[in-house]
Amino acid sequence: MRIGIIGGGQLGQMLGFAARDLGIEVRFIDPSDDPPAAACGKVIQCQFDDTVGLMALAETCDVLTYEFENVSLATLRHVSEVVPIYPPVAALQYSQDRLDEKRLFETLAIPLPEFAAIDSHQDLNAAAEKLGLPMVIKTRRFGYDGKGQFVVRETADIEAAWNALGDQPLIAEQWVDFDYELSCLGVRNIDGDVTIYPLSRNVHINGILHTSKSPLNLPELSETASDYVHRLLEHLDYVGVLALELFAIGDRLLANEFAPRVHNSGHWTIEGSETSQFENHLRAILNLPLGSTTSRGHAGMLNLIGEISDATRALNIGVLHDYGKHPRPGRKLGHVTVIGESAEQRDTLVGKIDKSVT
Ligand code: AMP
Repeated sequence: MRIGIIGGGQLGQMLGFAARDLGIEVRFIDPSDDPPAAACGKVIQCQFDDTVGLMALAETCDVLTYEFENVSLATLRHVSEVVPIYPPVAALQYSQDRLDEKRLFETLAIPLPEFAAIDSHQDLNAAAEKLGLPMVIKTRRFGYDGKGQFVVRETADIEAAWNALGDQPLIAEQWVDFDYELSCLGVRNIDGDVTIYPLSRNVHINGILHTSKSPLNLPELSETASDYVHRLLEHLDYVGVLALELFAIGDRLLANEFAPRVHNSGHWTIEGSETSQFENHLRAILNLPLGSTTSRGHAGMLNLIGEISDATRALNIGVLHDYGKHPRPGRKLGHVTVIGESAEQRDTLVGKIDKSVT
């Protein structure tokens, strides 16, 4: 049994480590010279839309998956005639276009912030009227970690937003004054068995995930989030891990976006869950019984971005995952996960790590 993984970044690497523990071989495609996943298996070096490279992966693997969303749908559909690809390409299609994704949430009666499609400067003016200010302008495609976004705080910002982003299809979204952000990860195997992870509470800085903590004492919100994830998984006839990101406002949840893949806000599951998101993703796509998602203690995860400081390494708290990437401002280089006996102890440990990050 060999699994082909499109993308050799840290998510591919962590899938590779989980595969090793299950005794399964993995193979990757990635355009970079020495991607993090090279530590786990052979890498075919090619662009993600290179049909020849993808076919070489497909022909030597029993099943394909992806850790990266910006893959050409046409190429994937072509390859899916040779080998099964999970999660289904239809799920990827929704997640690649914020407008389609929001319409899917509407179809499934999953509440979300008010939004408007933007194709012209006039649409921007109309959106400001409809949604009120502030509003956030996002590119429909290829946005990640807050990239391709512009917050319009006052009418005078509309011009700048259009100049910055107006050459591509956009959406405008009502600015949500949320209490906090959550994510809910679910996993479904080929037989249709579903299991849901406990909610994570996530803090972003400049659009990039900073910390995730789980479990949370939010039984009603957990039930609602789990229901929304179930709807997505069933509707998409989904196979694999799916992450739904949500804004919490009082007792309400609004869907922000979903990722059809393993997710940064679930990295704590490696140490903090009876079965990690990576193992369960592999179990799902191999149609194995899914593992328990029961928490082991109180988990906290802190991303290490731009550099991994000597002070963080010297702290030696929790488990440091160094992806082996070259330092660069804004780049996710690693993360640390701590497991506390209580939420308070977990928060203290995360606070210490946070102080060590320069
Ligand atoms: P996204 O790429 O859409 O997940 O956005 C990255 C981050 O920007 C989110 O996790 C939020 O912290 C923030 N953000 C995005 N959209 C909104 C919104 N409509 N209102 C408030 N904050 C937002």
